[in-house]
Amino acid sequence: MTAQTVPAYDGGTAPVRWAPGDQVLWRYRGNGTDRVLICRPVTVAHDDDDLLAVWVAPGTECIRPVLADGPEISGEPLATRFRKPRSAHRTRWSGTGVLKLACPGEPWSVWLFWDRDWGLRNWYVNLEEPRTRWSGGTDSEDHVLDIAVYPDRSWEWKDEDEFEAAQEAGLINRAKAAAIRTAGLQAVRRIEEWGSPFCDGWENWRPDPSWTTPALPDDWDRPANT
Ligand code: MG
Repeated sequence: MTAQTVPAYDGGTAPVRWAPGDQVLWRYRGNGTDRVLICRPVTVAHDDDDLLAVWVAPGTECIRPVLADGPEISGEPLATRFRKPRSAHRTRWSGTGVLKLACPGEPWSVWLFWDRDWGLRNWYVNLEEPRTRWSGGTDSEDHVLDIAVYPDRSWEWKDEDEFEAAQEAGLINRAKAAAIRTAGLQAVRRIEEWGSPFCDGWENWRPDPSWTTPALPDDWDRPANT
């Protein structure tokens, strides 16, 4: 598979729209910092006033956080998981690809996970800061709390224990935590009424076979000059 390089930021103004097939970066800063700790090169599937859809191809080289002293974050006890410094680690996206759907201004994005045979496994509502667009992609801050939504339309909160731990560690203050929970409840209403994007048929979407996997650029953490 050929890998193309995401174009470096040229100092110009952010494009109004991306075209299907454009390759951009989907990034998250560490909570309360300007430091990018998650960076996923993605291919634009759709972009208009109402929705940005991007594809994370299997095997894409990405950046994800690890604890600065080495171990996996998930192996660290909750009490200290959000208290230890993190660093950015180069890795590959493992498992099947993921489609991410984001409405401008909404404090979450909705991700679709499929099995290998393209049976829909689940949707995943990732609560996050409304994304900022810049010429090279979008930036946000992950809000730790998430919601899993299943094909039978049942749903459950995910990572409530981490959400609590992040508050105890002072990464998310009380007011912000309340706003995040409120956003989550808005998302729950959307799920229960089976509104967009759940009702829009995205589970039948497939990536264009002509797309190549975008490469992680060396300057993946460059400032987002909006
Ligand atoms: Mg999350």
